[in-house]
Amino acid sequence: MNPKTREGAACKTAQAHADEKPEGMRYKKDKPMNLADVFPPNGHVQHLYCNQCNDYLDLSFTDFSEDVSGICISIDGLPVLRCRKCSATFLLDDSRVAIIYLHEQATKARKSVVKVTHKNTDRDFGFTKVPFVYDSDDYKYIPGLYRPFNEGFLTPVFFNKEVLIKYDASPVYRVSFASKTYGEIRQGDAFSMPFGLNRNDKLIMWLGDIASLPETEQYYLRSENVPSDHSIGSEFYDAQIECKFTDPSPEDNLFKDRSTFLEACFGRFGEKLAQLDKEVLDLAVTVQRPLVDSARTRRDVADVLNKIYIESFNNKALGKALDVLGEDAKSLGSLKRLQKLLEKSSPMSNISEMMSPFYVLYDLRVAFSHLGSEKGSQESLQYVQKRLALGESAGLLDIYDRLIVELSAAFKKITAVVGDGTKYWTKRR
Ligand SMILES: [Zn+2]
Repeated sequence: MNPKTREGAACKTAQAHADEKPEGMRYKKDKPMNLADVFPPNGHVQHLYCNQCNDYLDLSFTDFSEDVSGICISIDGLPVLRCRKCSATFLLDDSRVAIIYLHEQATKARKSVVKVTHKNTDRDFGFTKVPFVYDSDDYKYIPGLYRPFNEGFLTPVFFNKEVLIKYDASPVYRVSFASKTYGEIRQGDAFSMPFGLNRNDKLIMWLGDIASLPETEQYYLRSENVPSDHSIGSEFYDAQIECKFTDPSPEDNLFKDRSTFLEACFGRFGEKLAQLDKEVLDLAVTVQRPLVDSARTRRDVADVLNKIYIESFNNKALGKALDVLGEDAKSLGSLKRLQKLLEKSSPMSNISEMMSPFYVLYDLRVAFSHLGSEKGSQESLQYVQKRLALGESAGLLDIYDRLIVELSAAFKKITAVVGDGTKYWTKRR
């Protein structure tokens, strides 16, 4: 069904590839493998995490060719799990069984050489008549996906991530994020479809979930459907399959807080007050603490944060929400529009104080991008430092750390003003 990534080598000498041997197949470098080493270690459960460096493993198809206890066994396209970080390779239990079986058959037939090719399971799980491209080998071999019921439901289907922009722009659907790479597409209370972004920047959703969408939506998704890259390691996988929520980074928290605020606003005003365009989507994933304090990183950080957390507010939608309340917003920029909307929603709250971090971020860009005079930039920077309760010696890293936390807190406060936008993140069992 899908083209596989072929890896491995035809080399049959143990010496040459000793370091690449799948775990559990250790042997002395100058000697053949022992069949006993192929049996799964007692109580062993293969997970999607590398037991050498703890990074995610990718499903991969390797050309296996080894002398196993006196029989030369070659399997083209043997499914294995591979770590891209430390290059360790791990044998799947199914693959171990295949090697053991081939050894047994060859022994019975008194043959010293066996050569076979792995056949893709190539199954259509039948959830939908829309011909999605997916790889049933993913379902069979990636740890944690197989279930004795609803077979194939948890088959990962891969898409261009721009799909999210379309759903965000739709009046029917909403896209919300639990972190920078894990979220849900929702349609009111009718359904919610979890999605994740993998390390290759591809969007992943489960086949069973996709099949619950109206057929026209499925055909749209099919147009953005890409072949599996067999790489499912992501926060989406952790949460949905392992029920593991890694400690979110401050940046993850901030993006989630933004999402929760926008959800609350949608519930209150019926408007999507910010848009998810390709730029925001690309930038959100890349935001991380700068490593160094330089003129370049100052400009980049201020720029990126402004784009995601200020410029993505939708002026038109803010204007419409204000219009409903009888307010004229023509002369106002987006932050002022938002402030006015919140003030109308909660006249007793000190909105301008709550929103201070957003104005700080705005000024930070003025300070770091040298948009005005040198003196003006310096004054802006001092004003930023003062409002973040930092001294004048505070550099980019201090400012960044404080600002991310303050922006998160600001989103939480204005969310409380609008109403409860809390939602529930469920795992898939
Ligand atoms: Zn590793």
